[in-house]
Amino acid sequence: MLKITPYIPILVPVVIIGGLFYPLFGYFLLIDMIALMLISPFKGRFFCGNLCSRGLFNDFILSKISRKIKIPVLFKNMAFRIIILILMMSFMGYRVIQSQGIVYKLGAILVSMYIMQTLVISIIAVTVSPRAWCHFCPAGTIQRFFDRKKHILKAHKDKCINCGICNKVCPMQLPVNEIINHPDCIKCGRCIDSCPKKVLYFKI
Ligand code: SF4
Ligand code: SF4
Ligand code: SF4
Repeated sequence: MLKITPYIPILVPVVIIGGLFYPLFGYFLLIDMIALMLISPFKGRFFCGNLCSRGLFNDFILSKISRKIKIPVLFKNMAFRIIILILMMSFMGYRVIQSQGIVYKLGAILVSMYIMQTLVISIIAVTVSPRAWCHFCPAGTIQRFFDRKKHILKAHKDKCINCGICNKVCPMQLPVNEIINHPDCIKCGRCIDSCPKKVLYFKI
């Protein structure tokens, strides 16, 4: 986790409230998209685990009231994820065209999309699990495509005592001690910090 990671959730109310008064706040959504595409070839889904405002808002705030039940298998299904990606990108493209290239109008559209998405993400976070959305979020799926496997979770397997702590702390509910280097690992490092035997590490 980066030093700034715990402070990132504050961006959610800042973008929403700021955007209601000043549409240019909506361009935060584009900055987010550019940042994650630039980071993913070198660090996979690192953006999700350390820099995404909504993902971290769910981790630090909504996790306190989340039911934290098992994430449905459907959310992890690649066909389902591709369908959501196509639908959301098409909708976004349609809304961008509607802005007719007018800077403020596009900003307002992006703000409304940020608010709408945040509402959906938050409902899923509370009713299922804080990172349930992150399994089929289009931005997460895009990062998987750009990932060049350069920042991967590894293990000194001989030291593992199979205590299962790493599995319990993983916000993505990945079977950490069985599947090292899962493509949906968001590189949050919680499994590494929690392992009593220092089995896990990132290979840069
Ligand atoms: S999957 Fe989407 S919502 Fe979740 S952390 Fe990544 S970019 Fe943010
Ligand atoms: S927390 Fe460490 S020791 Fe325990 S199962 Fe995971 S990798 Fe093995
Ligand atoms: S496997 Fe470890 S680093 Fe990856 S998402 Fe789970 S807890 Fe975070």
